[in-house]
Amino acid sequence: MTAEVSDIEKAAGVLRRGGLVALPTETVYGLGANAEDPAAVARIFQVKGRPPSHPLIVHIGGAEHLDDWVQDVPATARLLAERFWPGPLTLVLRRGPRVPLEATGGLETVAVRVPDHPVALALLSAFGGGITAPSANRFASVSPTTADHVRTELGDGVDFVLDGGSCEVGVESTIVDATGDAPSILRPGGVTREELEVVLGCSLAAPSTSRVRVPGQHPSHYAPGARVVLVEPEKLVAEAELAQERGHRVGVFLPASFADAEVKVHAVAALPASMADYARGLYGFLRELDQQDCDLIVASLPVEEGLGVAIANRLRRAAGPRATV
Ligand code: AMP
Ligand code: MG
Repeated sequence: MTAEVSDIEKAAGVLRRGGLVALPTETVYGLGANAEDPAAVARIFQVKGRPPSHPLIVHIGGAEHLDDWVQDVPATARLLAERFWPGPLTLVLRRGPRVPLEATGGLETVAVRVPDHPVALALLSAFGGGITAPSANRFASVSPTTADHVRTELGDGVDFVLDGGSCEVGVESTIVDATGDAPSILRPGGVTREELEVVLGCSLAAPSTSRVRVPGQHPSHYAPGARVVLVEPEKLVAEAELAQERGHRVGVFLPASFADAEVKVHAVAALPASMADYARGLYGFLRELDQQDCDLIVASLPVEEGLGVAIANRLRRAAGPRATV
């Protein structure tokens, strides 16, 4: 089901009254609040169970509103905004006075983007302000790509869920530190390094050169209930079957090139051949294997180019040591 005009009006009203709205974007569903309302922003952290030092992304209705939220915008940032918005690219820039420190985790920088989803854009237009939103899931768990995922995970914590169908991109936005003259990627996502470099006409600076904190880089993030282990592709089937024999309920991420392989495990997620389809389905596959009661997910990393970089990043974090926060 997709949101109607009356739903958009209702959601805008909830935001104006300081409530929380789950909204569809092309990347994942967001848990949104009025970006200028510190109490509403504080509730996002409460509902997610997210440490308040982890900054959020401010969603705006168009590149023409950028200067309402940030200061000192370098020419390269304007170029990226012009070329990629609306779209899965988040720019980190110097915070403007309208952005409360609650939304930036106390940082003097703020992350901003224009989502490429008709429902999100209609909500931004009806609301008129900025909507600050992280992904609409509990801290460190798998991001939601359908309205049902949000309802299941956050329940009454959200005042209103706008349904905009399944997310087209399926992984979070690419975050670029655009505060200086040499932009760098802080988190790989829906816009690829290759696409950014074509527009910039040069290579992007290595992430380590940035001093900005990137909470999405927490060792364990995007993690399902089942433990995730990563193995070399040539050992995938053997390792998965071995773990199953040892008593685990194993779910395996089976690449398209293995389609004919018969794997003796509890459950199989058959991966699509295209990286865009894999990204779109990634979080859904993790959730499905959880639902099928797997206690161990065995996967291999895809080739790390294009969208494969973002997929590999999420899989590594899903497999990372679990947080005790
Ligand atoms: P989420 O996708 O749910 O993790 O939420 C938004 C993400 O935006 C955070 O995890 C951060 O990685 C990133 N972010 C937001 N603001 C900033 C900032 N000022 N500097 C660096 N990263 C940021
Ligand atoms: Mg998240």
